[in-house]
Amino acid sequence: MDRDRIERYLADTLGGNLTCREFVELVTDYLDEALTFGRWVQFQLHLGVCPGCRRYLNQMKVTVRRLGDLRPGPPPEPVRRELRQRFQAWAATRSGEPAR
Ligand SMILES: [Zn+2]
Repeated sequence: MDRDRIERYLADTLGGNLTCREFVELVTDYLDEALTFGRWVQFQLHLGVCPGCRRYLNQMKVTVRRLGDLRPGPPPEPVRRELRQRFQAWAATRSGEPAR
């Protein structure tokens, strides 16, 4: 058996055949440390054999870290102006009246 087949065999037998879709659904619970032990093992095994899901998990970790760095408070003025303009344009299309 080559390495790929061994890894797939281990993932399928020990990992209970977790699919990429199931993996993605478990990522939030994994990051919150809310997985059961059995699910955690399946998660780790899938992670070990699936580069795509490894990449996805790393991106999620980076995203969570960056969101944690955001400071609370109102958005900067250029963003508020843009939001106001977009909202007025949206409201105008809904009411059929020009935006004020
Ligand atoms: Zn995967």
